[in-house]
Amino acid sequence: MPDVIVAGAGPTGLMTAFELERAGVEVLVLERDPQPTTQSKALALQPRSVELLADRGLLAAIEPYVLARLPAGHFSGIPIDYTDLPTRFPFQLGVEQARVAAAVEARLRAPVVRDAAVTEVAQDDGGVVVTAGGRSHRAGWLVAADGGHSAVRRLLGAAFPGSSARFSLLVADVTLAAKPAGLAEDWQLPSTGSGFLLPLSGGRYRVVVGGEEQQRLDRDAPVTAAEVGRGLVAAHGPGIEIGELLWASRFGDAARQLERYRHGRVLFAGDAAHIHLPVGGQGLNLGLQDAVNLGWKLAAEVRGHAPGGLLDSYHDERHPVAARVLVSTRAQGVLGIPDPDAIAVREIVTGLLALPQARRAVALELSGLAVAYPGVLGRAEEPVSADGRGVLVGADLPAAWADRVEARPGPAPRLVRPDGHLVWDGGLGLDDALGRWFGPRVGSGAAGRARLSV
Ligand SMILES: Cc1cc2nc3c(=O)[nH]c(=O)nc-3n(C[C@H](O)[C@H](O)[C@H](O)COP(=O)(O)OP(=O)(O)OC[C@H]3O[C@@H](n4cnc5c(N)ncnc54)[C@H](O)[C@@H]3O)c2cc1C
Repeated sequence: MPDVIVAGAGPTGLMTAFELERAGVEVLVLERDPQPTTQSKALALQPRSVELLADRGLLAAIEPYVLARLPAGHFSGIPIDYTDLPTRFPFQLGVEQARVAAAVEARLRAPVVRDAAVTEVAQDDGGVVVTAGGRSHRAGWLVAADGGHSAVRRLLGAAFPGSSARFSLLVADVTLAAKPAGLAEDWQLPSTGSGFLLPLSGGRYRVVVGGEEQQRLDRDAPVTAAEVGRGLVAAHGPGIEIGELLWASRFGDAARQLERYRHGRVLFAGDAAHIHLPVGGQGLNLGLQDAVNLGWKLAAEVRGHAPGGLLDSYHDERHPVAARVLVSTRAQGVLGIPDPDAIAVREIVTGLLALPQARRAVALELSGLAVAYPGVLGRAEEPVSADGRGVLVGADLPAAWADRVEARPGPAPRLVRPDGHLVWDGGLGLDDALGRWFGPRVGSGAAGRARLSV
């Protein structure tokens, strides 16, 4: 019996499984689709996600597929310089989401069972029973990472308050049969936040269109090549002609968030927990960062050494982060409306974002580097432990925590959580910090300390 079932093999579910497995937890991933998807909604990785992937040795497998390194993000199409951000990676990586998911999946030992849509969930004090693809599986816990239309959310009747979509856009991957002279063939930030054309690999282009036609059409109407072609001509002039429509979908500005990320033995992450307009490249990044926050906490709970409240701190820490992204994307959505009032506000905001302090505050938010949690001192540059333990640098580690914390030499004392957050930086209080984040002392070696040379 696995310790944890993860519903959904999107980037959030796979990253959660990776984090759990790193910490020695048995995982089973159940995925609705019969094959790994080659369709990528997201194309942008923000600096904090790049840090997390690099620290886990996952970036090397993604790098061959990187389409662009952009030294800036954007706020509804208003460029936001990233070059002075406090990170090893002061840029967005343009890479297709499917490549990120494939890189994580390639490193999993856990089975990913496909063609296994979750259709029933039951839970009791001892665990969960999840029915998928006609089979029932029992585990201690369920992580619901089954996307914006989460079946688990529906099955549990979990409240998902927020607002429905008021405007609609289409996303499509196409080949072009004809291109106007001067069409930019390199990656550029969108200029409005409500439409763009970007080159992918292999002669494919990503198109996003949000014009009047999309507002008239039903949300469930299939996207046709003719509709995409009209959108392209409207944006780029008559010289552009669509070749093949490879993949298309519609999306909108619905913004919703679960009231609680934990429902007993079920924890929600990624789009299953929050949806919003995908402007500014935030959703995939939120999901990866939810996974990294949840993984080590749930692993500690499974292995029986989680301090009281640790698992609930997943909701406490991550809910406000997504709530803030909803505020940001709602504001960006308004700035993209082609209406004289919104255009006036956009002009003012563009001016404000030229001010260094305002630009930096927004850059820190978009990049994911501004994330701060109560009791946490900031991000640490320390590489994470290979086996999911915390890391103590430059101080003697009491032997009673050696099963949960790795000791390393180094000049500057610091204690780092498995998700890369600094929780002690020298002085008194090391034992308190160890107890708070890693649980009580255990074992006969409670009195000993592993000595380190620095
Ligand atoms: C047009 C567009 C552009 C975007 N651009 C960006 C961007 O540049 N940067 C960014 O950060 N974000 C972007 N996003 C958002 C990003 O794509 C999502 O936030 C991201 O896919 C969330 O990942 P996830 O794993 O939580 O959910 P998903 O990617 O939706 O994965 C959920 C998985 O669960 C599976 N599933 C569904 N139902 C079941 C079930 N019943 N049982 C089992 N499995 C199930 C699905 O098949 C899927 O594999 C964009 C979104 C859109 C629509």
